[in-house]
Amino acid sequence: MQKIIDRFVKYITVDTQSDPENPAFPSTEKQWDLAKILVEELKEIGMEDVTLDDNCYVMATLPSNVDFEVPTIGFIAHIDTSPDYSGTNVKPQFHPNYNGEDIVLNKEENIILSPSYFEDLLMYKGQTLITTDGTTLLGADDKAGITEIVSAMEFLINNPEIKHGKIRVGFTPDEEVGKGAHMFDVDKFGAEWAYTMDGSQVGELEYENFNAAGAKVTINGKIVHPGYAKGKMINSMTIAADFIKSLPANEVPEHTTNYEGFFHLHTMNGEVEKTTLEYIIRDHDLKLFEGRKELFQKLVDDLNKKLGADLIEVEIKDQYFNMREKIEPVMHIVDIAEEAMNHLNITPLIKAIRGGTDGSQLSYKGLPCPNIFAGGHNFHGRYEYVPAESLQLATDVIVEIARITAKRARK
Ligand SMILES: [Zn+2]
Repeated sequence: MQKIIDRFVKYITVDTQSDPENPAFPSTEKQWDLAKILVEELKEIGMEDVTLDDNCYVMATLPSNVDFEVPTIGFIAHIDTSPDYSGTNVKPQFHPNYNGEDIVLNKEENIILSPSYFEDLLMYKGQTLITTDGTTLLGADDKAGITEIVSAMEFLINNPEIKHGKIRVGFTPDEEVGKGAHMFDVDKFGAEWAYTMDGSQVGELEYENFNAAGAKVTINGKIVHPGYAKGKMINSMTIAADFIKSLPANEVPEHTTNYEGFFHLHTMNGEVEKTTLEYIIRDHDLKLFEGRKELFQKLVDDLNKKLGADLIEVEIKDQYFNMREKIEPVMHIVDIAEEAMNHLNITPLIKAIRGGTDGSQLSYKGLPCPNIFAGGHNFHGRYEYVPAESLQLATDVIVEIARITAKRARK
């Protein structure tokens, strides 16, 4: 296991934070640093066809070691870390044989990782926890995924008695800014299906995510001297308040869970003359999702009618869709992952993602792509941690998926 830990540490100490403000691709130059290291390492362990393209995508092949046809499968993880929190100078702390008590991440600043707040910690008593020093994120999202994929490939190369078909691996930039799949060359990747190693807790297996749209509402008012405004002034902020109130009050992120969708007002800018509201609209169910967009439009139309003028404009744009639509016709790819976990005595935790993944975009680009746990917790902040044992388990799952895929193809 030390080798996996060392590999993980090597990756997290390279700063690869992405930047949502920069339209360039990749959004930060420093992502190349890790991409280049990965290219060298993949060659070193004996992978073939190792490439780094102009957009910072790393791909490589582990050739089949059987003489019958096996579908080519892929494993994908992302190079970048979240723009939400610093990834500069990550100094991992190791807590072997974790005793279930508070972990002091940073004495000077009194930053404590406590199971009284993060109960998940108690699942890992006796294990080796890798945490931050309280001043950065850890980067287990998603360098845990990269570590597991590289380690699994190395294991398969060193243990040729384990039979497998052709395996492709892919490491993508800019996942955290929603663009990881944008320049992904699905044809070049050439896999029949793939798995992103980008989930959290051991056992997670996900093939459903939100359908997503963004809506921008613009309300036009009329400014007049307030002393002489009677019958003339139109205050766009007051109209905005009416609109906000007209949406279902309980269908918001803070009141919904599991498969419940929502309308989320995330930005509001206003003065008398003009107010803009920015919403995201989410639902797992495609019909309900379409219904939400229709309701949104109808509430705008109704309010315009009531006001007797078209003061409110709305623009609704689809962002991404639930990958379930693309996975259900090929459910065996989820079954294989489930079977792999069962073989390893891992209880599969199948749940719907309340968000999106690169896998959903890849699924719509023709590469069905469920998401598997990478083992980390508390992503995107200073409390991020990963048990070393989980890095090992996810590595084992990858090996097992490769083995089962070949075994099923033989019959
Ligand atoms: Zn991630």
